[in-house]
Amino acid sequence: MPGPLDWINDELASLESAGLRRIRRNVLPLPAMRCRVDGRELVNFASNDYLNLSHDPRVIAAAQSALGSSGVGAAASALICGRTAWHVALEERLARFERQPAAILFPTGFAANAGTICALAGSDETIFSDRLNHASLIDGCRLSGARLRIYRHDDLAGLETELQKSSPQGRRLIVTDSVFSMDGDLAPLVELCTLAERFGALLLVDEAHATGVFGAGGRGLAELLQVEHRVAVRVGTLSKAVGTLGGFVAGPQPLIDWLWNRARPQMFSTALPPAICAAAAEAIQIIEDEPQRRARLLELSSTFRASLARCGIRTVATAAGPIVPVILETPERAVQVARRLEESGFLVGAIRPPTVPQGTSRLRITLSSGHQPADLDRLVAALQLALFDS
Ligand code: PMP
Repeated sequence: MPGPLDWINDELASLESAGLRRIRRNVLPLPAMRCRVDGRELVNFASNDYLNLSHDPRVIAAAQSALGSSGVGAAASALICGRTAWHVALEERLARFERQPAAILFPTGFAANAGTICALAGSDETIFSDRLNHASLIDGCRLSGARLRIYRHDDLAGLETELQKSSPQGRRLIVTDSVFSMDGDLAPLVELCTLAERFGALLLVDEAHATGVFGAGGRGLAELLQVEHRVAVRVGTLSKAVGTLGGFVAGPQPLIDWLWNRARPQMFSTALPPAICAAAAEAIQIIEDEPQRRARLLELSSTFRASLARCGIRTVATAAGPIVPVILETPERAVQVARRLEESGFLVGAIRPPTVPQGTSRLRITLSSGHQPADLDRLVAALQLALFDS
């Protein structure tokens, strides 16, 4: 008699033979963008800790100090009794940082995206979504039950046609990553704002990979492109450049009050651990006070791209900033090259479908202000060997 879960073994076997089965690693994070994997020390080029804040002594001290009095878990959702003084302080800190009247926290950036979209759109609404948006935006769109129009990546003409065809009855929502997570390129936010304004649509921008990285104040791509006042809803995460955990929306009071009442992942999940809130508030302070961190990160990023180009290693031409993909097409090749890099002392992500479209498997190299120029030089040399010496 076949067991009820036997089909899983068949499915896993077919993932394995297509080179798509996920590999689990046991990683010990170390300071200075190092980590220990299976007993070997590697330079970490796979993390989203863009400003190296997850190991900053001030961020660690803030967490430790809160931990002494707060306990570890928040013990309930924010609306029941999980919203401590540390949560309130972080909400206020984020609102000040983003120059908005208010902010609301979510357990993760994923939850923030999915919960916010579902709070803003239902079956009467139409959502327009870039094909390369992050899974959390995609799942939020699906879960909302809204009519869904997927436009080709950055295809503004295609989006305009879809907006023209759509019914003006019911709200229209355009959703986009600001920095696309797997390609590292920047959304055309100015043009998206113009389209949203022309069609009376609401624009939601996920700044997950831009907070702390872009803009003079570190507020993201909308700040860099001077469209903060034109973007209706901006979602952020605390898990990347902020170096901690959690998601947030900062915006006008009615929007935040609505999310307190309708965003289900924050209503029905336990609030963030208080110590994480204390750490995130400290990290935001550092992001404000130390713009040199993002300046260094962007400088390292352009130097690295220039070195790759000199060696004939092609990256996504439109990308900017710390996410540097090297497209290798097949999943087997991506895994093979990542393995060779690991043998040379570097941890780099091999990204395969369904995270990226078929035929675009890649290395996703991520830089941090915690890397040293010599780390980058050694990685370029190792990449040359791994890519061309086969
Ligand atoms: N948005 C984007 C664009 C992301 O890349 C990610 C994380 N990979 C998220 C949202 C989710 O953020 P978190 O890890 O905080 O859940």
